[in-house]
Amino acid sequence: MRCIALVLLCSLAFLSPGAAQHESADTVFYNANVYTVNPSQPRAQAIAVKAGRILFAGSNQGVASYETAQTRRIDLAGATVVPGLTDSHYHLIGVGERELTLNLEGTATLAEFLARVKARVEQAAPGEWVTGRGWIETFWTPPVFPTRSDLDKISPANPVFLNRADGHGAVANSAALKIAGIDRNTRDPFGGQIIKDQATGEPSGMLLDNAQGLVAKHIPPSSNADIEKAVLVGVDHSIRLGWCEIQNAGSTYPEVELYKKLYKEGKIKLRIYNAVYGPGPNADRLLREGPTIDAFDHHFTVRTIKVVFDGALGSRGAALLEPYSDDNTSGFLREKVEQVSPMLDQALKQGIQVETHAIGDRANRTILDLYEKAMAAVTPAQRKIAEPRWRVEHAQIISPSDIPRFAKLGIIPSMQPSHAIGDLHFAPRRLGMDRLAGAYAWESLIKSGCIIPGGSDAPVERGEPMIEFYAAVARKDLKGFSGEGWHPEQAVSREDALKMFTIWAAYAAFQEKDKGSIEVGKLADLTVLSADIMQVPESEIPKTRCLMTVIGGEVVFKAS
Ligand SMILES: [Zn+2]
Repeated sequence: MRCIALVLLCSLAFLSPGAAQHESADTVFYNANVYTVNPSQPRAQAIAVKAGRILFAGSNQGVASYETAQTRRIDLAGATVVPGLTDSHYHLIGVGERELTLNLEGTATLAEFLARVKARVEQAAPGEWVTGRGWIETFWTPPVFPTRSDLDKISPANPVFLNRADGHGAVANSAALKIAGIDRNTRDPFGGQIIKDQATGEPSGMLLDNAQGLVAKHIPPSSNADIEKAVLVGVDHSIRLGWCEIQNAGSTYPEVELYKKLYKEGKIKLRIYNAVYGPGPNADRLLREGPTIDAFDHHFTVRTIKVVFDGALGSRGAALLEPYSDDNTSGFLREKVEQVSPMLDQALKQGIQVETHAIGDRANRTILDLYEKAMAAVTPAQRKIAEPRWRVEHAQIISPSDIPRFAKLGIIPSMQPSHAIGDLHFAPRRLGMDRLAGAYAWESLIKSGCIIPGGSDAPVERGEPMIEFYAAVARKDLKGFSGEGWHPEQAVSREDALKMFTIWAAYAAFQEKDKGSIEVGKLADLTVLSADIMQVPESEIPKTRCLMTVIGGEVVFKAS
């Protein structure tokens, strides 16, 4: 495909502008306010598309010569167009499940949370598990975890298991703990914590990180039909928001097979750049079988291993160099260095990308050390891909002395602006003022020479492109609030925020030759917006809506 585009480019170069010998377009989009993210031609009014690729970007007048009687003409009536947006850190099935199951997002008090769960418990059959997700206690007064006794009051018999919004903690009731055999004598598993009541020594019901699995493994698994439904709902939801690609931060091989089946059946239009979990059997299989790149006409790629290296800041599972400022713990690593390290060497040799979830400054330093060690052990000549573009997902709290190491080692910090505007309400308590200097340090990383692919971590956050764009440029919550010491100088320019969700996201996926800007020869992925996000007042950005999503030249969503 790329060769054809290049030939096309060359042949066009010999034609005078406006010559009738142009290739004819399948579709033209005109009367638009286009931001191309192409530095040699930053703005345009019109785009011509043929066979899924961009044939022309320029003026309304210029596009006319690409039209024939068969060309579909789409008048965008002054709407703003940006390169098709990519969410660089997304959990597609989680997004679908959020839409399909008990969604506890936005519960403002413990009472409201319990009321919503109670309504679901009342519909459950005797003994049926009640599961849900999306609650977060940091906005409650007081901001403390719910307990099993809270849940026992509304569900004395049915087992209940409810994931915190970040997926790094869950609360279970007594019935669920009993099924899992968890009591005061159960020891913490590696990389997890069973929170116990300090006075009685009994489990409180809260399970952090790897401890969640002790209960979760007893919950009947979702049926294949349920998972397929979640994928399709997640895809539809994403396209409506204006995402043209999502980079799926972790999956298993049965899920990979499901995606392939759905692409074959023509049921997925969204592009998916997919990672599989490691170390373990999924990573082993990717290392053994090799990557899948640009399958289904550039819609599906699997070339990345996702490592979940520590917990999250809200639940105090993020691994810190010094203890938390509001508790006597330093968090924990969730994978053993001696298992990660050999996998990294192998990945370099096989040309497999690695992306590692690291939130705390200890997790970040440790993974930088491990990446550095692997890169020293396996020289560029011994690698399948000399420049491996390894990533750190979140890179949330970094010791200032580690910031320059990212650019120096060619490691990409993949970050989620909305985490900063949610976490600003509790991160100062967890970290104290000094450590905020290296927290969500977007501008410091960019100035040090990094690119930052932007993502939402949905369903941990809403997963809406305009919330992410706003968060990156405003660094304030949706009400315009940012607390003391929240480093407003780390907010990014609108130009860089746009790159985070376009060309930088493409680069972090080895896709910058095909995607990330509106340029002749690239895939015709476009996001059409209701407002000019490069110009409108900051507070207008989150109100901006997706009017149209175009993937490979096809209009896959149009707002009514
Ligand atoms: Zn994630």
